[in-house]
Amino acid sequence: MGKFILRFDDFKKKKELEVKDEIFKLDLEKGVVKKSDLKISFKAVRYSDIINIVGRIYGTETFECSRCLEIFDKSVSIAFESSFSKEDEEFDLSDDIKQTIILDIPMQPLCYDGCKGICQVCGCNKNEKDCKCKEKNDGEFIAQKWSKIIKLNKK
Ligand SMILES: [Zn+2]
Ligand SMILES: [Zn+2]
Repeated sequence: MGKFILRFDDFKKKKELEVKDEIFKLDLEKGVVKKSDLKISFKAVRYSDIINIVGRIYGTETFECSRCLEIFDKSVSIAFESSFSKEDEEFDLSDDIKQTIILDIPMQPLCYDGCKGICQVCGCNKNEKDCKCKEKNDGEFIAQKWSKIIKLNKK
């Protein structure tokens, strides 16, 4: 992560630093992102005692759909901004990048907005197959189940 550690002293001679297409390894402790292929470009500019950083995170992240469990890739392009001052001396930009990526991760990833998910009855992927199982609404489905149980008990 050497490219992401910035020192104020490095900006004494020249005021700007530009980093392009640097690979960013995301440790996947969150579990939602199955795989990531991300790169970072940023420009850091010194304004007297402040270094201002403007950049972009881009690439692809691989998720498991929370409805149908299919694995899918999502392209990512997130802008970020950061800054540090002379007093900080050294600044690790990778923490800010990581936070930005984590905030962008969906709580319930969907392969597409209208994903139909998995049939609760036969287990098929309803995006691929239109099964004729009856699960129109959960209330009705549960009521049917109970009525069967009640009938069985009556015998
Ligand atoms: Zn899905
Ligand atoms: Zn079904």
